[in-house]
This record gives sequence, C-alpha cells and structure tokens, in this order.
Amino acid sequence: MPSETSGSPHVVVIGAGVVGACCATYLQQQGARVTLIDRQRPGDEDAASFGNAGSLSPSSVVPTPAPGMLAKVPGWLLKEDGPLTIRWSYLPRLLPWLIRFIRAGGDAEHQRRAAEALAALHAPTFDFHSRLARDAGVAELVSPVEYLHVYGSEESYAGAEREWTIRRRHGADFEVLGRGELHEAEPDLAPHYVKGVRIEGQGRTLNPGRLVRAYVDRVVANGGELLLAEATGFEASASRVGAVRTDGGTVEGDAFVLSAGAFSRRLTDRLGLGLPLDTERGYHVTCPDPGVTVSHTVMEADNKFVANPMAMGVRFAGMVEMAGVDAPPNPRRAEAIERLAKRMYPKLRLEGATRWMGRRPSMPDGLPVIGSSPRHENLWLAFGHGHTGMVAGPMTGRIVAGMITGAMPNIDVTPYRADRFRAG
Ligand SMILES: Cc1cc2nc3c(=O)[nH]c(=O)nc-3n(C[C@H](O)[C@H](O)[C@H](O)COP(=O)(O)OP(=O)(O)OC[C@H]3O[C@@H](n4cnc5c(N)ncnc54)[C@H](O)[C@@H]3O)c2cc1C
Repeated sequence: MPSETSGSPHVVVIGAGVVGACCATYLQQQGARVTLIDRQRPGDEDAASFGNAGSLSPSSVVPTPAPGMLAKVPGWLLKEDGPLTIRWSYLPRLLPWLIRFIRAGGDAEHQRRAAEALAALHAPTFDFHSRLARDAGVAELVSPVEYLHVYGSEESYAGAEREWTIRRRHGADFEVLGRGELHEAEPDLAPHYVKGVRIEGQGRTLNPGRLVRAYVDRVVANGGELLLAEATGFEASASRVGAVRTDGGTVEGDAFVLSAGAFSRRLTDRLGLGLPLDTERGYHVTCPDPGVTVSHTVMEADNKFVANPMAMGVRFAGMVEMAGVDAPPNPRRAEAIERLAKRMYPKLRLEGATRWMGRRPSMPDGLPVIGSSPRHENLWLAFGHGHTGMVAGPMTGRIVAGMITGAMPNIDVTPYRADRFRAG
C-alpha cells in the first residue's frame, strides 16, 4: 500500500456529498491515494447534496444566526406556512445549540467576521464548480444565473437593508427593481410582489445530485476507490486515527477526512470531540411540468424559500425544521411549500410534483468546521456548511486537500477551526 512515507498518502474520506466529493477530487489532484466511503450511492436522496435548491451564489454571505431573530421566531412558529418549525419533543436536545445560535446572532463582531469568512469560502464557487464539472464531463450542469430576491411589501424590503449592506460590502453587484421592472423580469410572478433586488454574476447547478455523482465518478475513474458501507467508528489512540470501522470491514489509512454532513456528529461524539453540530432540515417540491417560466433563481424573501429552474423542472426549496437527524419527514412542511409556491406563481402546475426532505448540517455560529480534529493529528473535519454547502464545497475541498498535502490555498482558515467551540 502506498503510504505517507512513499510521498503519496492514503486518505480515507467518509461521506461523499458535495463536501466529501470535492475533498476527494482535490486530494487526488494533489497526489493522494483516495478511498471514499458512503453508505449510499453518492448524490442519492439521503444526502443534503441531492435535493437542495442548487444555488451557487457567491453573494450568500449573510450568516444564518442574525440580530433580531429572537423577536421574529414566535411569529414564524405561529404562522401556518411559516419558515421555521421545531419538533417540541426535540427541544431539550436542541437547547444548547439554540442558545449558541441566539448568542451568535446577537454578537455584532461575530456577524462581521462570519460574513467575511463565508465570503472567502464562497467567492470562487462558480469558477471552481465550472472547472470541476467540465473535468467530470458534465459542464452543462453548472450555469450562470441572476439571483432575484422578491418582496411582498415595502416594509419587508426595508427590513432587509442590513443584509444588502453586508452583500454589498462583499462585492455583490445588484440593482433594485420597482414593481413594473420586477414583473417585466419575471412575468409569471404573482402581482402582489412590489419590489425585487437582482444580483448579477451568480451561478446554479441544474441537478446537484447528479453533479456530485459525476465528481465521485471522476475520482473513481482516476484510480480512487469508492466503498459503499456505513462508517460506524474509528480505531484510534489518544492522538491518531489508525482506521475507520465500517459495516463492510475496517479501512486503514494515513489520514482521514470526516465529511458525513449532518450525520458527522455520530462519529465525532464517538471520539469525544463534543462539537455542536445539529441539522436544519429543509424540504423541496420539484414540479416537472410547471406551466410557468422561472427565469432567475428567485428567493421569496418573506417566506424564505427559493424557486430555481432545473433539469427536472422548477424546484421550490426552503423551510427550517429543527427535529434532529432521525425523525421522519413531516409531509405538512412540503405541503406548505406547495401552497407558498402556488401563491408565488398562481399558474403553477403541481401535477407530478416530487417531494423531499434533507438535512442541512449546521453549526450554531453559522460557519462550517474545516480543519484538524482538536485531538487527532491525522483526522480532518469538513462539515457544518448549513444553507450553503453547495456553494462552499469546492473551497472546502481545496482547504482540506491543502492541509493534508501542504498545498494550501491563500485563505485564513482560523474562523473554521473546530477548537473554536472549546470555550463554551
Ligand atoms: C432544502 C435545502 C435547500 C438547500 N439549498 C442550497 C443551495 O441552494 N445552495 C447551497 O449551497 N446549499 C444548499 N443547501 C445546503 C446544502 O445542500 C448542504 O449544505 C450540503 O449539501 C452539505 O453537503 P455535505 O457533503 O456536507 O453533506 P451531505 O450532502 O448530506 O452528504 C453527506 C454524505 O455522507 C454520507 N454518510 C452519512 N453518514 C455516513 C456514515 N456513517 N457512513 C458512510 N456515509 C455516511 C451520506 O450518505 C451522504 O452521502 C440546501 C439544503 C436543503 C436541505
């Protein structure tokens, strides 16, 4: 087996969603021998990377924990089709995460640094994905798009001023559209929308699951190994991991990358790392024969969901449901998306629509964990990308590959360190 001593480390990557696929790709490009482990066919339904909204927007730099959120939460929870639900039986387990989330939202200095850290991860997303997709033979799955935020009232637009200030600070090139211009740009939109903001230079994928599978297929075509098995734990000493245990046997390696999305916590808990990863579950409804034209990626800002034209039809995706990784999907959340989508595009046809629930892997401070394990010198953590894992996947892969092989991209990685949670 080629090993670190022969100059070609064997790196075992656990989880082949967008993050694991990007880590594996760049590791391989930098000379590592790669084994990818996933319990399902990469890019399939159990991965958040399968059914997300497909936005590759470098301007998604506003951290999820935000000031004033606490005041809005009761209204969101009470609204029948509101963007947030909490499964009350899960609340006791969620509470420590929630307290950190609220604290992060109220910390202005954290907000500033987090937006900067997200901008650094997101800026190159379109170029990186375009190149990865081209190399994987699926260039057509990544395309440029304008991102349009739409508002149902002047008040809700005014309430978003802070977000636009942050986006502008990080280079977003946008224009504000009055009612007439908005409906000219997106004619099938319901007439009650009064304001839009259009951001230039954004990207999207037409099929996130297929894109991720293509990245993995390329790793395999270039000599990488894909093991379809569930990782159940590690063989580790106090400071090093020797192997990962799976239901298909034990896999040894020189270095290990944990990129199992929202499920990563099961494995970090087994190592006693105590990292506060939880999941913001989301839903999509994809309409194969929508009967309306959606020309942009459209963010319905009042109800916080996205409409995106994709290869499979128009996808409406959003909602945050705090219920842990194991609870079954709640069909009422998908029904709420259908009602909201119909309100957004009154001529929308829902016949044949498919529904899906996925688990965003979310840290309470709105930033992913990317970097070495606080305890194990050859274990690297890459999870917790929340609402923007598709956007941040390639840069995360570059960072992880750089940390392991020594070819680091020019980026300050301090904000993503796992040991930032030690103090509290
Ligand atoms: C409704 C919705 C809309 C979204 N829209 C967007 C968007 O427009 N743009 C964007 O950037 N992001 C979006 N996201 C977020 C994005 O989908 C996630 O951040 C991203 O997919 C996370 O990628 P990942 O690789 O970390 O995890 P995942 O994609 O979940 O992949 C994890 C993989 O690990 C595997 N795995 C888990 N446990 C084990 C184990 N023990 N052993 C072996 N394998 C294991 C799983 O099978 C899976 O394949 C959205 C999410 C949702 C839910």
